[in-house]
Amino acid sequence: MLRWPVTDLDDHYATLDVDPDAGPDEVRAAWRFLITAFHPDRFRDPDQRDRAEEVTKRANAAWHVLGDPGRRGRYDLGRRRPYVPPPEPGPPLRRLPCPSCATRCRVTDPGGRTVDLVCPACGDSFAAMIGARCVGRPRLERRWLGMRHQAVFADARGERRSVEFRRLPAELALAEGELMSVVFSPRRGRPVYAIVHDGTLDVGWRVG
Ligand SMILES: [Zn+2]
Repeated sequence: MLRWPVTDLDDHYATLDVDPDAGPDEVRAAWRFLITAFHPDRFRDPDQRDRAEEVTKRANAAWHVLGDPGRRGRYDLGRRRPYVPPPEPGPPLRRLPCPSCATRCRVTDPGGRTVDLVCPACGDSFAAMIGARCVGRPRLERRWLGMRHQAVFADARGERRSVEFRRLPAELALAEGELMSVVFSPRRGRPVYAIVHDGTLDVGWRVG
């Protein structure tokens, strides 16, 4: 009775059931055996026929690579190399201007949380809310010192923080869902810069 080859799908040598150091004649004989023995026309049962077609397809794919010395050489090189999974994509880097000297600092996005930073150029420490989502459009509210734009942001965990802007440039839409950072002044904690993150582009406006 004919055995259905059980093979490692990704390994051409396993498909042909030959050793990796098998010579060209042995590889060719193994391939010829499979495509003859598993020729789909030999099977009436539809399931068996499908499996035979699959075996033939894999045998031909293996032969395409192992039957050609150049392709086989390259395949052997890749086969010996252990599989290394690609690195997990880390959090993006944001470029934020220092509120004191405007030097742009590269900071790992903490997912909308507010963190304390130290400017590498001037040494001032300041707070920044980095990578938060804008929740709805800002509302204009009357305060005892005048009007304020009240905007609400959410971090990656859904925690909300409201920020008051004394002025907002017209270009800064603060649209719903927009990914943003806000840099606060070192002493009074007022917003100084608002930065919109659009893909890899960071666009900042002075807001205080
Ligand atoms: Zn600085």
